[in-house]
Amino acid sequence: MFTKILIANRGEIACRVMETAHDMGVATVAVYSDADAASKHVALAGQAVHIGGSAPADSYLRGDVIIAAALKTGAQAIHPGYGFLSENPDFVEACTAAGLVFIGPSAKAIRAMGLKDAAKVLMQEAGVPVVPGYLGEDQDPSHLATEADKIGYPVLIKAVAGGGGKGMRLVEAAGEFADALTAAKAEALNGFGNDHVLIEKYIQQPRHIEVQVFGDGTHAVHLFERDCSLQRRHQKVIEEAPAPDMTNEVRAAMGAAAVTAAEAIGYSGAGTIEFIVDGANGLRVDGFWFMEMNTRLQVEHPVTEAITGVDLVEWQLRVAAGEPLPKAQGDLQINGHSFEARLYAEDVPAGFLPATGTLTHLAFPEAARADSGVRAGDVTSPFYDPMIAKLTVHGANRAEALGKLARVLETTEVGGSVTNLAFLHALALHEGFGRGEVDTGLIARDLAALVVEPVADDAVVALAAIGALGLDKAANGFALWAPLQRTVVLRSGEEEIATKVATLGEGRFEVAFADAVHTVAQGAHWVVDGQSVTAKVVLLGETVSVFAGHGFHFDIVDPLEADANHAGDGNLIEAPMPGLVKAVFATAGQVVAAGDRLAILEAMKMEHALLAIRDGVVAEVFVAEGDQVEAGAALIGLEEAEE
Ligand code: ADP
Ligand code: ADP
Ligand code: MG
Repeated sequence: MFTKILIANRGEIACRVMETAHDMGVATVAVYSDADAASKHVALAGQAVHIGGSAPADSYLRGDVIIAAALKTGAQAIHPGYGFLSENPDFVEACTAAGLVFIGPSAKAIRAMGLKDAAKVLMQEAGVPVVPGYLGEDQDPSHLATEADKIGYPVLIKAVAGGGGKGMRLVEAAGEFADALTAAKAEALNGFGNDHVLIEKYIQQPRHIEVQVFGDGTHAVHLFERDCSLQRRHQKVIEEAPAPDMTNEVRAAMGAAAVTAAEAIGYSGAGTIEFIVDGANGLRVDGFWFMEMNTRLQVEHPVTEAITGVDLVEWQLRVAAGEPLPKAQGDLQINGHSFEARLYAEDVPAGFLPATGTLTHLAFPEAARADSGVRAGDVTSPFYDPMIAKLTVHGANRAEALGKLARVLETTEVGGSVTNLAFLHALALHEGFGRGEVDTGLIARDLAALVVEPVADDAVVALAAIGALGLDKAANGFALWAPLQRTVVLRSGEEEIATKVATLGEGRFEVAFADAVHTVAQGAHWVVDGQSVTAKVVLLGETVSVFAGHGFHFDIVDPLEADANHAGDGNLIEAPMPGLVKAVFATAGQVVAAGDRLAILEAMKMEHALLAIRDGVVAEVFVAEGDQVEAGAALIGLEEAEE
């Protein structure tokens, strides 16, 4: 076994790998960018090496600098995590050339699966079912249109070099093909520097079911399937294992196909074979098709670990160090059911905008495995994925595990940032999901209902007011009993709520709003108007949070500022979040109408169009393409059109 490894990654996956390495007695080296100097993965590692600037291109994608760090610290192997350099065959070759072990597959295996069209041809030859479609070289638009007609609509156009759902277009009818092709090719060229596309049959009620495989370079085993059908814009949201309604027969067929796929390329290490599955009439042995292979550890690997008891990172280290596969196929079995939810700092009602800021408070319930790269007090940086944690639960069966997931989502406490907790919780309670009726369109169909944020009721506001004044026991260790009445103004979004709190006795309060008065008692539990309320109140600086099945957060308004006018004049287009200015369409002097697209801001995986708030003339453009901007930065100024 190695004595020291370097982890060429950050965040939760870097921490996850280090935990197993430490359990195995393997020392660890972290690498970090400017933005990550004080981050959790650096604190966890035995040693840490600074590798450059905050943008991934200046640090986590610098293979040469990372290899130098490994050599300097005496690490024998590099674990790439996921993303960044994990699927980069040139990096694998550079590691080998430097005498370092890459903990993952060979460069050859990565290349074989790197382009979707070539991978599919290869899989077809190996006898693995692939989605019917056109995988050819001829990219002439009229030829592609003819191929689409042959396949039969609806079809999907996919960038062969694509990933993360980019460069992909669904085409419902022949008349829309030409435009969709142009759009897909432009996106592919822009995103991946390669505009080749393939065309395939669009599966009508698709499920995404993937199989975890593990190879030793010659033989492979599979560790059953994960269902990742709950997706938003082709991004996974909640994953589970095993797949609902999976039969032994279909599982055996999918597992065998996945093993065939892995062995066909001499695969070594952890990998995932993604299948698209027709869910319209139940799972069938002839109803699944190879979609792509991810030649790395997958984000959602914890659900597989939960049902198999295998530590996949431990297997990765053992196999990379030359040990045989720890278990044979016959020794692997499924125990119970598991779900993973991806907790993000994002503003769901605002269209899932990534959020940044300081996580003032963070507490995960015991019932979950929480894989997290952040701690209370850490900052979510604009440079990386805004993931806070992956929350994984395990139960004896699907219903039990889903119940646990819902409970975990209710009792996870995050302060200092908006999160997608309410959205995840609504999903966990979704009736169709509860019945196991999953397909990749579920979230989009029910989006309106799923994105509704819980509204704080009077009881929550009353507790917030008491908390804001520091009158609750948690704040004092004892209750203030002196009769006194104080005013506190709380702000939640646009709304300001003025409250008056009177202390009646030890742990007894009266809280008055404009139109109601509530009595509150704090004993072992909170009691509001005679009703017991399960809630935790946390006061942090200028904000107070009430965790009551959902986190409600209020800014405490400084009385001197309460009347200040904070309405803008509508003349400035500001960055709604930190990000990269992808494109600027506005030019000074241009006449614009409300709703016109003035610029595009890219924040992590998403592009956000910035629109003119009203009719006017562009007075000034403050930014240029390629600029990195902070939240609130002025981008474009408007002025009134001269009559
Ligand atoms: P997985 O397929 O492992 O479940 P995803 O589908 O969420 O992971 O993401 C696909 C790939 O994109 C993974 O390699 C993941 O690490 C990478 N990725 C995810 N988020 C980001 C990000 N914000 N920036 C760069 N790469 C990312
Ligand atoms: P990426 O590399 O962007 O992850 P994939 O080929 O893995 O691209 O597809 C991403 C998602 O798109 C899948 O998880 C699935 O939801 C959907 N999808 C892909 N192929 C099809 C298809 N033929 N029919 C219907 N949906 C599909
Ligand atoms: Mg995929």
